[in-house]
Amino acid sequence: MFKLIDLPYKSLAPVISDETLSFHHGKHLQTYVDNLNKLIAGTEFETMSLEEIVKKSSGAIFNNAGQILNHELYFTQFAPAPSCPAPTGHLLDAIVKQWGSVDAFKADFEAKGVTLFGSGWVWLQSNEAGELSIAQYPGADNPVAHGLKPLLTFDVWEHAYYLDYQNRRAAHLKELWGIVEWTVMEKRYNK
Ligand code: MN
Repeated sequence: MFKLIDLPYKSLAPVISDETLSFHHGKHLQTYVDNLNKLIAGTEFETMSLEEIVKKSSGAIFNNAGQILNHELYFTQFAPAPSCPAPTGHLLDAIVKQWGSVDAFKADFEAKGVTLFGSGWVWLQSNEAGELSIAQYPGADNPVAHGLKPLLTFDVWEHAYYLDYQNRRAAHLKELWGIVEWTVMEKRYNK
């Protein structure tokens, strides 16, 4: 049985309003958890980790497991007042190597979030050599399903921002940088 994760903070306002956070975590993510538990009951997936299910499943099971994994990574990468508001260490080196600067990386990441058609996720991911790339994945898809390591993600499903930003996805993505806790990505990258 999977359980809804607890959030490591009380509020991310004003970047994400308390109302959006409450619906996104308490309703949308809770529904994916409830759906997955019903779908895997009595199947080979019942004893697997989320990552294993994402790698081995398809259809409704993949969609619900992927959405749980994506939201767990998403919600745990933020802090209302980040202790580390910019990339550091090995991850900073890899970003500069790939994009030339953190600002150029952010501009590329935002552009790929804005141009992702419909619902999905924009990801910073790494391969086994530690090389970084940005990917647009539709629906519940994610780097784990493609054998890559997930580092940072912005949710561009409308439920992530519509109450606060309506159709202004670009404005929402720009604001999200203010709550990214980069120590989390550095840990994911070095793991
Ligand atoms: Mn979402």
